[in-house]
Amino acid sequence: MTKDKESKENCIFCKILEGTLPVSMICEDQEVAVFVDIRPIQEGHLLIIPKYHAPYMKDVDPATLQHMMVIAAKMNQALRKSDLRCEGVNLLVADGEAARQEVFHFHLHVFPRYKDDGFGLRYDPSRHFLKADRKRMDEIAAEIKRNL
Ligand SMILES: [Zn+2]
Repeated sequence: MTKDKESKENCIFCKILEGTLPVSMICEDQEVAVFVDIRPIQEGHLLIIPKYHAPYMKDVDPATLQHMMVIAAKMNQALRKSDLRCEGVNLLVADGEAARQEVFHFHLHVFPRYKDDGFGLRYDPSRHFLKADRKRMDEIAAEIKRNL
């Protein structure tokens, strides 16, 4: 990945915040903005973003991250009360290219789900969700703790 992709100059979300790209804005305050995703998983797919350029989660102020989650809870309720089809809600963060991040301005996806909506995370039952070994789980816990 090039540095270019991470720059503010090439950031479509910053252009939205600056008013140079069209947007269907839901709300904004001093810290965050919430708008409708142009390529939705479902109708009602929303994005919550910090109002400053921050490519990755590590670049976002902890207070902003907390605020984003509070706003996500409000959006969750608004989606459920709306006329849009919404039987459940997913929150999703893609942090880094390997996690399928496409816009390098940190964002939290909030989108409605309903039974048989055809969306899902793909997995291989021979590789994923296999019961883990306790010794290895303890090693992993220790490794994460060492890096806090
Ligand atoms: Zn940006």
